[in-house]
Amino acid sequence: AKAAGRDRVVQFRPELRTAQRNVSRLSAGLRRALAEDEFAVHYQPVVDTETGQVAAVEALARWQPPDRPAVSPAEFIPVAEETGLIRPLGAWVLRQACLDARPWYDQHAVGLAVNVSPQQLTDPDFADLVLSALREAGLPGNGLIVEVTESSLVATAANSDTLRQLDRLREHGVRVAIDDFGTGYSSLAYVARLPVDIVKLDRSFVQHPPQATPDGQGWAFTRAVLQLVESLQLQAIAEGVETLDQLEQLRALRCRLVQGFLFGRPMPGELIVQSLTAAAEP
Ligand code: C2E
Ligand code: CA
Ligand code: CA
Ligand code: CA
Repeated sequence: AKAAGRDRVVQFRPELRTAQRNVSRLSAGLRRALAEDEFAVHYQPVVDTETGQVAAVEALARWQPPDRPAVSPAEFIPVAEETGLIRPLGAWVLRQACLDARPWYDQHAVGLAVNVSPQQLTDPDFADLVLSALREAGLPGNGLIVEVTESSLVATAANSDTLRQLDRLREHGVRVAIDDFGTGYSSLAYVARLPVDIVKLDRSFVQHPPQATPDGQGWAFTRAVLQLVESLQLQAIAEGVETLDQLEQLRALRCRLVQGFLFGRPMPGELIVQSLTAAAEP
């Protein structure tokens, strides 16, 4: 009966079987990659449009298997989340990024943003993990931003232990950013009641503004969201800025912090250092 069941899967949903095979191959590879040190952290600048300087960098995980092309985090993060490997991987990224970013913070006052998955956030030791990564690197709390997606923050909002952990981090100066805002269904008024300091506007607000029309209504929507963010005394970061035109639109809307390929792709630490010193020059 089992064999028949398998055959049926092959017959009707070959793509499902391929996907399952890919996931188990990926998860075996990920486990080995963690043990063999095949991960790297790249950094993408977040630029302050008023000063032209890099205000922060976002840490983005990279997997470079020795024998194959690099695997995108869009592919391996979901598998790491499914298999629970995201906890050791996320802890490694956090520690490595804090160590890398300490001199950038000391010399250029550059903050570090690290992505955090829901499984990490709900770990009862999450705040301890973050605080010990900071201590080990000698990075002060106000040098760190933890990025949590809108959906995972809303999902954990009912969990008072998670909220307490975020509060504890904020008491140490750590800021909390809500990532990919606008891709979920929560209202800003609701989000503002959560322990949040920064709202990262999803790139759809920048690249294809919602309700875009030939007369520029899409930007009117982005403006309204930015005004609301400001009135809630939160900071905004616009993601996915790729063109000068998008930058000009955002500046006109007084969106101060921007991030995107226009300013730099995620790059290894050695290269981000160069962009910090270049940006610091008058
Ligand atoms: P994210 O947190 O929204 O990160 C931004 C993604 O947008 C990055 O993709 C970045 O390379 C890309 N990006 C930046 N500027 C532009 C732009 O101007 N245009 C376009 N089209 N894309 C831009 P990346 O590095 O492939 O990461 C994908 C996602 O994987 C991240 O999305 C994040 O959700 C996840 N991720 C990456 N590293 C980590 C990590 O260490 N931990 C966790 N939990 N998730 C991570
Ligand atoms: Ca992010
Ligand atoms: Ca994002
Ligand atoms: Ca994302």
